[in-house]
Amino acid sequence: LLTATGLRKAFGENEVLRGIDFEVRRGEVVVLIGPSGSGKTTVLRSLNGLETPDAGVLDLDGGPVIDFAAQALGPAKAAKQQRLALRDRSAMVFQHHNLFPHLTVLENVIEGPVQVQRVPKARAVAEATALLDRVGLAEKRDAYPFELSGGQQQRVGIVRALALKPDLLLFDEPTSALDPELVGEVLQVIAELAREGWTMVVVTHELAFARQAADEVLFLDGGVVVERGTPQELFTAPREERTRRFLDRIL
Ligand code: ATP
Repeated sequence: LLTATGLRKAFGENEVLRGIDFEVRRGEVVVLIGPSGSGKTTVLRSLNGLETPDAGVLDLDGGPVIDFAAQALGPAKAAKQQRLALRDRSAMVFQHHNLFPHLTVLENVIEGPVQVQRVPKARAVAEATALLDRVGLAEKRDAYPFELSGGQQQRVGIVRALALKPDLLLFDEPTSALDPELVGEVLQVIAELAREGWTMVVVTHELAFARQAADEVLFLDGGVVVERGTPQELFTAPREERTRRFLDRIL
């Protein structure tokens, strides 16, 4: 579904991505792990146009294919169009749910489909209601975000991403802002989506989740992919010393 080749990004002197390559096949779950500052979030944001790499190529099945170095030299309008096309294909779930506080759960979920994708409101409501039901939040449809627990808010955040019917779901540390007892319910929803065949890229520190749900795990450090493999390969028999040290620290 997606091939990323040679992604590079610097913020001033700080080279955050130094040539990142990976592939995400349809229906596959790719998990990014690595120490703080290793570039995981920057990779994820590059995949949906929130960040623009300095160089590298993103090739999404069915378009767009973006060559960032060439894009930087071309017209700004064309570059923006490519970024918007990229954004249309994916949906991001953030660390903080980013729900609109003045809108109800249902209004939050239908906002994207109705305002951006021009889906008729009745259809958007029916689809949103079915999705909320699936994550056990049907009865919270008309509640406001502040009336929900952190875990429920994050599940609404996930439903809001699903409602856009993206080809690619992106999760940026979706449970790291939650109280420990709420982490499980959110990871469970994500694991169910994985089983249903959604394609996703997940940045997380939850290695138990990675072990259970990932098809491939990439270990990033210093802006490069140090090691990649199945969870089995990476967690039980890491080849690289840097991977071993990281796993020793957090396991
Ligand atoms: P964490 O686990 O802490 O979120 P990460 O692996 O996701 O870390 P990134 O968030 O991608 O790492 O950040 C990598 C580096 O890039 C950090 O040093 C960060 O300070 C820097 N960085 C990220 N975004 C920007 C920005 N918009 N401007 C300047 N520097 C940035």
